[in-house]
This record gives sequence, C-alpha cells and structure tokens, in this order.
Amino acid sequence: MKEQIPYKIYLDESELPKSWLNLRAFMDKKPAPLLNPKTLKPMTAEELSSIFCTELARQEVDDVTKYIEIPDEIRDFYKMYRPAPLIRAYCLEKELNTPAKIYYKFEGNNTSGSHKLNSAIAQAYYAKNQGLKGVTTETGAGQWGTALSMACSYFGLDCKVFMVKCSYEQKPFRREVMRTYGANVTPSPSPTTEVGKKILAEFPGTTGSLGCAISEAVEVASKTDGYRYALGSVLNQVLLHQSVIGLETKTALDKYGEKADIIIGCAGGGSNLGGLIAPFMVEKIKGERDYQIIAVEPASCPTLTRGKYAYDYCDTGKVCPLAKMYTLGSGYIPSSSHAGGLRYHGMTTTLSELYDQGLMQARAVEQTEVFKAAVQFARIEGILPAPESSHAIKVAIDEALKCKETGEEKTIVFGLTGTGYFDMYAYQKYNDGVMGDYIPTEEDLKKGFDGIPKINL
Ligand SMILES: *Cc1c(COP(=O)(O)O)cnc(C)c1O
Repeated sequence: MKEQIPYKIYLDESELPKSWLNLRAFMDKKPAPLLNPKTLKPMTAEELSSIFCTELARQEVDDVTKYIEIPDEIRDFYKMYRPAPLIRAYCLEKELNTPAKIYYKFEGNNTSGSHKLNSAIAQAYYAKNQGLKGVTTETGAGQWGTALSMACSYFGLDCKVFMVKCSYEQKPFRREVMRTYGANVTPSPSPTTEVGKKILAEFPGTTGSLGCAISEAVEVASKTDGYRYALGSVLNQVLLHQSVIGLETKTALDKYGEKADIIIGCAGGGSNLGGLIAPFMVEKIKGERDYQIIAVEPASCPTLTRGKYAYDYCDTGKVCPLAKMYTLGSGYIPSSSHAGGLRYHGMTTTLSELYDQGLMQARAVEQTEVFKAAVQFARIEGILPAPESSHAIKVAIDEALKCKETGEEKTIVFGLTGTGYFDMYAYQKYNDGVMGDYIPTEEDLKKGFDGIPKINL
C-alpha cells in the first residue's frame, strides 16, 4: 500500500548526496570544449587555473568522471539548509482543477534566497583550500553575489562583487545584504577597470549586463595577487555543484514511488535546470525512461528559442574563454527586465548540446504573464517566488491546464529556484499595471549575432 504523499517531502541529513553528478560524463556526444580566445585551442585545466581555483579548473574540463565526491566541509555547510524540500502543490492543483500532479523543488530556504549557494559554498571552499585571499565575481539580480558573500564570510575570504548597474539601483537592499556579509560591491560598468572604462565610453548611460560585469571581475582577479574569479552559472563546475538539486529531487520522488513526466526549470545560464535534470537526463540518455524536459526563458532574452549555436565569447570584454553554446551574441544587451538572473546572452554548453540533440525543449515567455503566474502561485501556495523562478511556474501551470483539457494525469516537477523579497519593485510595477513586455525584433537580434566570431572547426 502506498503512503499518502505529504505536502512536503523532507529527506534526512543522511540522504544528502555524497557525490555530485557530472552529467557530461554520461553524454555520448560531449559538449564542445572551451577555447582559448588567443590560440583558439581547447583550454587546459592548467590555463584555466589562472582564472579559477585549481580544483575548479580541473572540474571544468572533466567530462569523464561520472560522480565527484562532495568534500565533508561542503556537506557540513549544505546541512545548514539542505536537503531542500520537494513540495507537492496540492493547493495549486486544486485551484487549477487539474488531474496533473505538481511538485516543486524549493531552493529558497536560505538567506541568499536561491539555489546559488549550492555552488558558492563549493567555490569558496576550493579557494580557501588553495590558500587564496579572496575571489571576485559579478552579480546580475544579486542572488549570486549574496550567495558568494555568505560563502566567503563562512570561510573568511574576501569577496569583490561587480553588480549590474540596473540591479544595483533597483535593489539597494541586496547590496546591503552583501555588505553585511563583508563583501565589497561596485556597480558595473565601473570606471575602476580598463574594460569598464571602455564600455562606458562606448555606451554612455548603459544599465550594464552580466557580460560586462564578468569582464570587470575577471580583469580584477587576474590583476590582483591571491585572487581568482568565481562565476555563478554557465560553467560546467556550477552545473556539477547544482546536481544536488536533481539528486535530492529524484531521491524524494523515488521514496514515494513517483515518476516525473515533465520537468521544468527557468534557464538563465542554465545551472539550476542543468542540476535539476541531471539524474533524470542520465536515465533518458541510457534509454531507461523518457522525460519531457522544458527550459523556460524570458522572451526578452530568448537564448535557446531564437539564438544561434556557435562558439562565442562569454563576456562583453572578450577576456574569457570561448564557449560553443546557444547565444544571442556577447554584445547583446537585453532590455532591463525584472528577471535579472535570466539576462545572460548565452546558455551553458551542456544544455546547449542537449537541446541541439533534441533531448530537451525550450519555451520563451513574456514578463507580464510570468508575473500573473507568480501572483497566482504566491496567493495559493504561500511562497513569494523570485521572478526568475516564476518563468518555470508559468509553464508548469500551462502544462497542468493542458492536462485538464486532455484528462491526462501527468506528474510535473519544476524548480522553484528562489524567493522574491528583493524584487518588490517589480511586483509593484505589476500590481500597478504598468509592467510592459519587451520582445526584441529580428533587427535587435541581428546586432548581437553580427558580433559572434566566425570560427569553424
Ligand atoms: C540566477 C538565478 C536563476 C538563473 O540562473 P541559472 O544558472 O539559469 O539557474 C534562476 N533563479 C534564481 C532565483 C536565480 O537567482
């Protein structure tokens, strides 16, 4: 006899994953390697270790080791806020009157308010272990900067954050949380770096982008002794660390004999989705079970749905390695939408390759419909979702309503990546009815595409 499924499936501390899952190691056709921007040859771990911590550089290029053990120090920190609950959205199901079962993995139960802490603590640990003084980074919406500030303060590391200017202005309290954890926060683009000065001269009045902020942070890391650069998404190492999300989700479902049919996540750089789907995609690749996997992105930054699959720069200043990914071009500066964490021009190489192989789907949604879903969810499930996460909510609701039409009892699992307490300015715009939608024209996109380097291999 099956047990009644609780509203929240909590796992024991002992069920916290002991290893991360390296999805690339299971792929038949691997994602293309990062290229050195000068030589156009694949980056070695050694070359990468001038930018990243040595151990992280090693993880970055490792596409053969299937499971990588999580060091005890990182697991101890995870235990403060993990395992994260998998929540059955009984109330939402009832309101939608759908035969579908809806589950969400909630990653907002920590002060940084999102899944980003899962990788931040790992990156800070490896930096500390290597004897570094500190790390530099960029932050868009502020979640990554907050997470890294928390992780650095835990290990006694210095943290320099370049925060995309529009977020810096829209979210002063995010900035204060970072400073409370001891970080130094600079709005980007800034006149404190060479690349920042160049961007400011070229685009005066720009509200910035993740691509600019990354260039600034990399520049400072490479010019400052005892510092390395840390990135909150896009990289293979980040997807690896985020696999705890998927591993826990699978353990929780297995506990109750539940099988997902549809797995949905929002996609900025692709780390939460890459982590959520990891163990499920392994089954799919092995032909053990099929899953419909949907990446949801903003219509204002439609990387997978309208981008090109090509080698491109990861940052505006072109100082980082080149990655083969779905991209809108490193010069593409999306409109200042309220889902700051989804405003990146590219998509992690693993998801790009899986998408190209037809193993997952993508959908672009408009901002106002995302907030409509966010408000509906907040009112019935109680959690105030981050705008980024609400992209996944929107598509989960759409899929549940499709089930209502067809009468199919599908099981939908989506990633609720974080809370939206620092996004109340965006909610205010929505509540006041003055939020707009912005969809780039073909012409807007062409400008970005024109900047993609012509590299044929
Ligand atoms: C950063 C962020 C995202 C998007 O980043 P991914 O790397 O695509 O996961 C989504 N949700 C929240 C709450 C975030 O902070």
